[in-house]
Amino acid sequence: MPVRLPFRPRRDTYPPDLWTKCPGCSEMLFNKQLEKTLRVCPHCGHHFRISARSRIEQLVDGGSFVERDDDLQPVDSLGFVDLKSYPDRLVAAQLATGLRDAAVWGLAAMGGKPVSMCVMDFGFIGGSMGAVVGEKVARAGEAALDQRIPLIIVSSSGGARMQEGTYALMQLAKTMGVIERLKAACVPFISVLTDPTTGGVFASFAVVGDVNIAEPNAIIRFAGDRVSAGTIGEELPPGYQRSEFWFSHGFVDRIVARARLRDEVIALLGFLAAPPPAGAGEAIAGIASRPRSLLSALTGALAGENGDARGSDARGGDARNGGRNGDSRNGGRGGEANGSRGEAPRG
Ligand SMILES: [Zn+2]
Repeated sequence: MPVRLPFRPRRDTYPPDLWTKCPGCSEMLFNKQLEKTLRVCPHCGHHFRISARSRIEQLVDGGSFVERDDDLQPVDSLGFVDLKSYPDRLVAAQLATGLRDAAVWGLAAMGGKPVSMCVMDFGFIGGSMGAVVGEKVARAGEAALDQRIPLIIVSSSGGARMQEGTYALMQLAKTMGVIERLKAACVPFISVLTDPTTGGVFASFAVVGDVNIAEPNAIIRFAGDRVSAGTIGEELPPGYQRSEFWFSHGFVDRIVARARLRDEVIALLGFLAAPPPAGAGEAIAGIASRPRSLLSALTGALAGENGDARGSDARGGDARNGGRNGDSRNGGRGGEANGSRGEAPRG
């Protein structure tokens, strides 16, 4: 029979799952409180890394996320072994995160608008991009293209997954191929860069969004300090690999705190909409995706040339006409001149 002590033994330390020490200000933060602030330190604003599932929960309309391809599973094509074998690493990461690989993608709604979303999870082998992550990004892009809905990718990655060697590197080309097709079809792509976005993910899809949003003070870079400084043979300025530096150099369009991220993306979705596929839908929907075209059309309408302006924009919205550049050139001029310019590339 077990002996029952009248008092519980006194604990010398707090249970580790109750408190988290903030790396920004060294304050001890109560985990329940931290969850309420979306894992942002209320004292210094440090943004903790969060899982893909939490990110999705924070961004999309409640209950709207429908995951796709959750059964995709990485394979060890190279028989790769470092300190551990790759399959052992995969199993450990799968047990720790409850994911099969470092990305989750699916269809969801944000502010009532349908979106295709892919979110990376740094907790799974550093969010590294192997064949499965690349495939999920590509499929999210293809779904956005098929359904003409905006693509949103939230990156959090150490780069290409070395255990998959060349297969991992090939994901850069694969993902960029899809993004280029999206751009040609004028389907919006919002890229959210979170801490950290580095290596092959930085070097491919993460920084080519129509709008690149970063969380405050996130590490965004291709390579580490030593490699970067060694490559160019120069000392690098302090903080050169943080969101604020990229923002001040025009590489990142917005720095948005996590608490405002959802509202910010929803607001952007109000400005960005994919035009309907060629030959379908209302011409006016094509105008809505391009503020400058919209302004030109409105100018035309005020001058009594509404019909002309609309017609030209519908042609400009056609993916085969060469996408955004051609379109913004047309859009900037407006009025009847648009009609002839819109026609020219078609012939
Ligand atoms: Zn703090």
